[in-house]
Amino acid sequence: MSLADDELTGARVRFAPSPTGKLHLGSGRTALFNWLVARGSGGAFVLRLEDTDSERSKAEFELDIMDSMRWMGLDWDEGPDIGGPHGPYRQSERMEIYRGYGERLLAEGKAYKCWCSATELDERKKAAVAAGKAWRYDRKCASLAPDELARLEAEDAPYTVRFRVPAGTVAVDDMLRGDVNVDASEIDDFIIMRSDGTAGFHLAVVVDDITMEITHIIRGDDHLTNAVRHVLLFLALGAAAPRFLHHSLLFGPDGTKLSKRHGSTSVSDYREQGYLPDALVNYLALLSWSPGAGDEREIFTPAQLIEEFSIKGVSASKAIFDFDKLNWIDRQHIKAKSDSEVTDLVEPFLVKTGRGELLDLPRDRLEIAVTAVRNSLERLTDGLDQMDTFVRPAGLLDAKASAELAKANERDEALEICMRVLRAEPSSDREAAERIVETMRAEAKERGWGAKKILWPFRLAVTGLTIGPDLVYLIMFWGPSGCADRIETTARKLEGKRE
Ligand code: GLU
Repeated sequence: MSLADDELTGARVRFAPSPTGKLHLGSGRTALFNWLVARGSGGAFVLRLEDTDSERSKAEFELDIMDSMRWMGLDWDEGPDIGGPHGPYRQSERMEIYRGYGERLLAEGKAYKCWCSATELDERKKAAVAAGKAWRYDRKCASLAPDELARLEAEDAPYTVRFRVPAGTVAVDDMLRGDVNVDASEIDDFIIMRSDGTAGFHLAVVVDDITMEITHIIRGDDHLTNAVRHVLLFLALGAAAPRFLHHSLLFGPDGTKLSKRHGSTSVSDYREQGYLPDALVNYLALLSWSPGAGDEREIFTPAQLIEEFSIKGVSASKAIFDFDKLNWIDRQHIKAKSDSEVTDLVEPFLVKTGRGELLDLPRDRLEIAVTAVRNSLERLTDGLDQMDTFVRPAGLLDAKASAELAKANERDEALEICMRVLRAEPSSDREAAERIVETMRAEAKERGWGAKKILWPFRLAVTGLTIGPDLVYLIMFWGPSGCADRIETTARKLEGKRE
């Protein structure tokens, strides 16, 4: 965290998703920004589940959100699974707390009971709209005569509790946008307690942010209008409003909000597709943040992001998701890993895709198979098909390879040369493998052939395929004599066909 952000020392921030769907990339980015601020400022990162919509909130989505965050490396200090001093961390378990605050606002006259039914409200709204007026709650219940009030209370009819929006200007202190001032007369007397006694969204959020001692609220700019109501509630409850940062939402390349139409939108989809968590984190951070003017760096590890991320570098402009850029970044992160690390990362995908034969390989050979394909990987799953080359039985030719071998001139002589060169080399390390390929080239040259005349049948005979990893890896994987044996098996099959 840069020094200019020193007001961010010990920031207590929260990520407050509603578990009504899998963790969306946009929410993952919100979580990331909060996490970076918490970690960079030596503060705390709170996970709170806003599950007040009991119909749409699902346990499976809670799990997906938490798993996806863990996969991204965004660990939290307090949350529904680990508890903490300000729990519970699920809003559905905090209704009693909200009720207490709702009653306090009522007792202080900062809120009032509203007996208007949904039907009545709807009728008045329609009338207002028909008269060309914008509808805002008309405050019918804000100033009921005492006898009317007593009658309604005695009737025991259902009521909601509305916040009495005070007159004046409300200032939202936004770290990205400066002070956002709104005339309170533009705001409805919004509902803070529903008729079933549960808290409305705004009250729940503010009570949580107060009781969880949140110092900075970082979330998408779709909540900017809510922030005005939140500031009013903070003040009404005698609490200082936290600082806000409303970052831009994610948009697709066509400028509309990022949705399934553009491609995968949930973090878990990217995990399944074989993206590296560090690459996704890197890309999501870069979508609205850069290290500074003239600093062209684009590749950051999470530790570097913690070190370098600063509010100063965050831009308010539209964040456009660029799939090609993500792939490029993923590739850079894969490149930066050692062969052994990439092998570890690929292994779960071998398990998932049922590639038991590859998994049964001794580790050093599996590592060669991974190394053979890793340079072309944009995602960890990209090389799986190519890796299958290494578990093909000897002499099994696909149609294309078969046709190619059938028409190759001087094929038998080329294969003889391959076998001779291979059998002469006892070692199977990289240098030996490179030496073998060089010798084959030299043998071709001696005969006035192009190198392909030997190397092509070599590939076809060893793998039975027309495409596949670099020859050097084939030799390293099977060893020179193993390759020679495979060529011999193929040669015998070809022989058999001729007879
Ligand atoms: N639960 C809200 C959402 O998922 C977030 C509210 C907030 O961050 O204040 O959009």
